[in-house]
Amino acid sequence: MNSSSPGNRENGLVIAIDGPSGAGKSTITKLLAERLGYIHIDTGAMFRAIALSASRSGVRPDDDAALTELCSRTDVVLQRSNCCCTVLLNGEDVSQAIRTPEISALTSKISARKPVRENLLILQRRMGASGGVILEGRDIGTVVFPDAEVKFFLSASAEERGRRRYLELAAKGESITLEETIAAVVARDENDEKREHAPLRCADDAIVIDSTRLSIEEVLETMEKVVRERVLERKTA
Ligand code: C5P
Repeated sequence: MNSSSPGNRENGLVIAIDGPSGAGKSTITKLLAERLGYIHIDTGAMFRAIALSASRSGVRPDDDAALTELCSRTDVVLQRSNCCCTVLLNGEDVSQAIRTPEISALTSKISARKPVRENLLILQRRMGASGGVILEGRDIGTVVFPDAEVKFFLSASAEERGRRRYLELAAKGESITLEETIAAVVARDENDEKREHAPLRCADDAIVIDSTRLSIEEVLETMEKVVRERVLERKTA
């Protein structure tokens, strides 16, 4: 077993939330972490920070040697304060810069590369080793923490996910249409599902939640109930 064993997790459970782009993972994970007093680890932000670094350094997404070298000199930190999480790339706050449509598209390519995944896998396992964490991503329940105590796979229709992403981008003043946003979401899904290394996949033991017609509160209540039951089971085991 490469991840920490459940018995060594003194701070609580490891909770995995995987799913495609725009399924609501970030919003839900943040709120669930607040309710449980857990740490929220946005693994997508870590891949995005590496993609931004590659873009700035002119490293091509298919150049594994250059990506290995880039990762060795790239420091990604998720810094928490009371209200939010700041993404630091070599000490610089890049929380906004990693959220553009261009970086989303580049991240989708960069995240398929083995050197990038290996580098972040070590970091993600270290961050979650003591438990008391919720990690959101694409491969948390299958690769990063296959022995996570609770696994969710959060999804929604492509149209609904595209619509949610479009509203987020429009609120930030990005000039992109709804059709373009849905197409970008579908293209990213395809890259994530078809890649060789750690593809987006629902773990066999994950609880699947389709949020297309559910409110944030409904999804949260379902998840919180499952987690609280697992905590109780663990105490009485
Ligand atoms: O979750 P978010 O949309 O911010 O993730 C950005 C990209 O990072 C995804 O499209 C995916 O390609 C990649 N990613 C990944 N594995 C993860 C998290 C994100 O490949 N665990």
